[in-house]
Amino acid sequence: MPDLVVDIAVGISVHKTFHYRAPGEMQDLLLPGTRVLIPFGSRRVTGTVIGLLSGVASDGLKQVIEVLDDHLSPELLDLARWMSDYYLHPLGLTIETLLPKALGRAVPKMEKMLCLIAGADTAAPKGPKQAALLHLLKEQGETAVSALDGFSRSTIKSLQDAGLLEITERELSLVPVTEAGIRDKPPELMPEQAGAVAEIGASLFSGTFGVYLLHGVTGSGKTEVYLHGIKCLAGTGKGAIVLVPEIALTPQLLSRFRKRFGSRVAVLHSGLTDRERADEYRRIQAREVDVAIGARSAVFAPFDRVGLIIVDEEHENSYKQDEGLRYHARDVAIMRAKFRDAVAVLGSATPSLESYYNAQSGKYRYLRLANRVDHRPMPEVKIVDARPFAKQHLYSPQLLDGVKQRLEKKEQTLLLLNRRGFSSVIICRECGTAVKCPCCSVSLTFHKSENVLKCHYCGHFTKPPGECASCFGTDLKMIGSGTQKVEEELQKLFPAARLRRMDSDSVKGKDAHDRLLQQVDRLEVDILLGTQMIAKGHDFPTVTLVGVVDADVGLNLPDFRACEKTFQLITQAAGRAGRGEAAGEVIIQTMNPNHYSILHSRTHDYEGFYNEEIAFRTQLKYPPVGRIIKLEMKSANEGYAKEAARTAQNRIRYLMTNRNRAGDSSISVAKNGGGINTPPSQRGAGGDCDAPAKDVILLGPAPAPISRVRGQYRYQLLLLSQKREMIRYLAAEGRNAVDEKYGRKCKVIIDVDPVNLM
Ligand code: ADP
Ligand code: ZN
Repeated sequence: MPDLVVDIAVGISVHKTFHYRAPGEMQDLLLPGTRVLIPFGSRRVTGTVIGLLSGVASDGLKQVIEVLDDHLSPELLDLARWMSDYYLHPLGLTIETLLPKALGRAVPKMEKMLCLIAGADTAAPKGPKQAALLHLLKEQGETAVSALDGFSRSTIKSLQDAGLLEITERELSLVPVTEAGIRDKPPELMPEQAGAVAEIGASLFSGTFGVYLLHGVTGSGKTEVYLHGIKCLAGTGKGAIVLVPEIALTPQLLSRFRKRFGSRVAVLHSGLTDRERADEYRRIQAREVDVAIGARSAVFAPFDRVGLIIVDEEHENSYKQDEGLRYHARDVAIMRAKFRDAVAVLGSATPSLESYYNAQSGKYRYLRLANRVDHRPMPEVKIVDARPFAKQHLYSPQLLDGVKQRLEKKEQTLLLLNRRGFSSVIICRECGTAVKCPCCSVSLTFHKSENVLKCHYCGHFTKPPGECASCFGTDLKMIGSGTQKVEEELQKLFPAARLRRMDSDSVKGKDAHDRLLQQVDRLEVDILLGTQMIAKGHDFPTVTLVGVVDADVGLNLPDFRACEKTFQLITQAAGRAGRGEAAGEVIIQTMNPNHYSILHSRTHDYEGFYNEEIAFRTQLKYPPVGRIIKLEMKSANEGYAKEAARTAQNRIRYLMTNRNRAGDSSISVAKNGGGINTPPSQRGAGGDCDAPAKDVILLGPAPAPISRVRGQYRYQLLLLSQKREMIRYLAAEGRNAVDEKYGRKCKVIIDVDPVNLM
């Protein structure tokens, strides 16, 4: 047999595939998606077979070392190809991102299972022990040897020898399946829920691709719609994937799925070890589960046929991976569904502008749950102007009075402050200099409990200085208030209240978050205070007051989505109030009481907010109307980063003007650093960017708003257009230009549809 030539995507950072040689006998093993070990330079690396080539000479090619025993299904290989192309990321690395790390290395642990051989129940056992074991197996069916109590090896062996029972091996599941036994009964659906399930079900039965936006107010029973939708798949052999923003924050959701589907649920989350993850992965491949739940990367769950993909809280930014392959799990979910004629359901009370825009244009089908389950009223929202008191106090009399009333009535309060730490910054009163991170261009945050200053970007920490680093002044002042300070002040005001804080500093380690939520459920907490963590998806039936201490935290960020994020956060936090029998109240303290993100969240008016926000996005051709690609040049040497950004800019400009000369006037170059990073509070103040009338706009180069992180200087370019193919091409060319000139001296990161512009 002649040698084969195989096209392989190698797990390294290059934008092409490589040819390798393999013995002809391997033909049947080397299918597209097969993982192999190959020599690359002086290293051995993993790669994935993309295809076999015919008519290509194998002379001089290196040989495949070994065929590995994991495999990428055709469905996932298609998805990887699309991602590599769309996100401009090397195919080999894209595939590595799709696969859990330990796969192919870990040998599954097996356990021994006992089961009766057909007809064995009529045979006579010898002695009471044997009879008891046969009886047990008859009652329970297949049973793990490790689960048996009080039966000796010899009892089992003699029954086996007598042909009464059989011993088989099964992969041991490492992830404990809790609550698998207790099933709940689905409630009778409300009419709106039933309507949504009927539509989704119809799509599932017809086996055609479709995307639904399930826009349901907080507490409208979206989860119940998901559960019923998944039930429609029963008997089809197709799997369901449920994506949640962060699994640790959604223990309630998880337990609802387990109660409905028992052990046929796999859970994929970052808290799993590599082994555990590989184990869950194998359970899915072995068709032992029908539903896979997890964060972002669960979108790659290896079902060979996926029927339904649900993206819960689809507006959450955590669906966007912020390093390596910068994919958006919601968008990947939609593409995976499309490739497989499956259905995607995007659920949210506050849809992203992108998804609502697509629903308006008819690209997605729109399902509305306008009412809370059992027609519980939406909470009443009061806006308190913080300007009169903000200099002296954190809390308005209204909010304090609200808390006091709840304490008297033994009801619970939730307080949201989206800033960790004790104070935001320490500044020198003499020269005004703030204490900054030595590696990042951000101020350090004071954490009182540990008495340290921390960088929230790189984790650097240090003792608070006694004097100013720049003028040696000693009059240092803390400004701004984080959750720790809010906690301290509150405890002084209400010494008897049982107060708990929830943020990423206070809830560390496995289950800490879950334990805290359970304390709230058991009414052992009067006031729960925290960052956005507390605003996420929990059902707190006993909370009747939600306070937003400082609604303006996000509004002044230089990010064009700041208003959208603020509206979402406040609306979601407000949605935590009044989910039980007692009515809820929400108090929002703000310095911008007339800002539209705040006014519309007062009336729970998503459409009102959307209309104002989309007008602004349309005017500037920002997403969802246009597309953005960000190029970031990163180097420890500021000069390289800056020069490389110019190099990319020149190449892109060159391509743009040459196209223009050829008669295509669809590209325009805006002045440097144009308006995309203007804080929304300054909107309309006239940035230095012309109203973009043309089809492609190039902004920058400019230092990133946080111009240095972990010692790396960052310069960025932004490409904006409604023609996404065009800007992908330009972005790739810009990167090539830098790669050619700078090689390893400057890294270029391409972020397609960036969420984070900081
Ligand atoms: P959402 O995800 O939209 O915020 P949930 O699905 O968490 O809402 O539902 C809110 C509460 O209402 C949950 O406690 C849920 O068990 C309950 N619920 C949902 N649907 C129904 C129904 N049809 N009948 C009774 N209770 C329901
Ligand atoms: Zn830092």
